[in-house]
Amino acid sequence: MSKSTLAPALQINDLIRTFINLDNSIEVLRGVNLTIKAGESVALVAPSGSGKSTLLHLAGLLERPTSGEVMIDGEATSSQNDGERTSIRGGKIGFIYQFHHLLPGFSALENIVLPQLIRGVSESAARNRARELLDQLGLAARADHRPARLSGGEQQRVAIARALANRPSLILADEPTGNLDAATASQVTATLLARVKDSGVAALIATHNIEMAAAADRILMLREGIIIDAKIQDGKLIAKP
Ligand code: ADP
Ligand code: MG
Repeated sequence: MSKSTLAPALQINDLIRTFINLDNSIEVLRGVNLTIKAGESVALVAPSGSGKSTLLHLAGLLERPTSGEVMIDGEATSSQNDGERTSIRGGKIGFIYQFHHLLPGFSALENIVLPQLIRGVSESAARNRARELLDQLGLAARADHRPARLSGGEQQRVAIARALANRPSLILADEPTGNLDAATASQVTATLLARVKDSGVAALIATHNIEMAAAADRILMLREGIIIDAKIQDGKLIAKP
């Protein structure tokens, strides 16, 4: 399928996700519409249980919606098979989680090299790319450390580097600072948003962190299964009129 360079990195149309349980069903997403273009960071702020992770899993092609469409770089994915979706996920989408999920037996550098090898990048090119990213994230001196020897903030910065390794179109971050103290969270936030800006990747970041939300280009709330535009006013999140 041909792809327009003008297409948004992520476009979501009328997304519905219902979980069917034994005795009830929950309509978590009730018609989500959302567009994020290259270089744009969008914060998604909502209380626990609102469906943020559900939305990120669908946007990341980890799950399929009940109905609706997810388009990555203008390419519709609903009719694609699992192999095609896995290929888009590996090449175009980078994930960052609340817990770093780095592989404990590998160094910081190797954790950034591995996803590139899976995509067929040569080992020398992958190592160069990993060193470049570690450098940009201020982690050059930590390249050979295993995750357990890194601080929480360093672990998350390695996770950011890993997410960027394959030059994705889209970063999906699920409460990336949720496990950090306030000072570290604000450092990691600044780092993530700066990397988004200068790499031109689009980012959708689920967060409870008002400071992070305020620093993003745009803020969305998820309320009763629908996305609404929001802003920070007097330190509080409110829906835009
Ligand atoms: P958030 O990330 O905003 O905390 P989630 O997306 O994790 O919210 O969950 C939204 C709602 O969907 C919750 O009520 C949760 O219990 C429900 N839910 C999430 N995943 C499943 C699942 N696999 N099966 C049934 N219910 C689920
Ligand atoms: Mg969640």
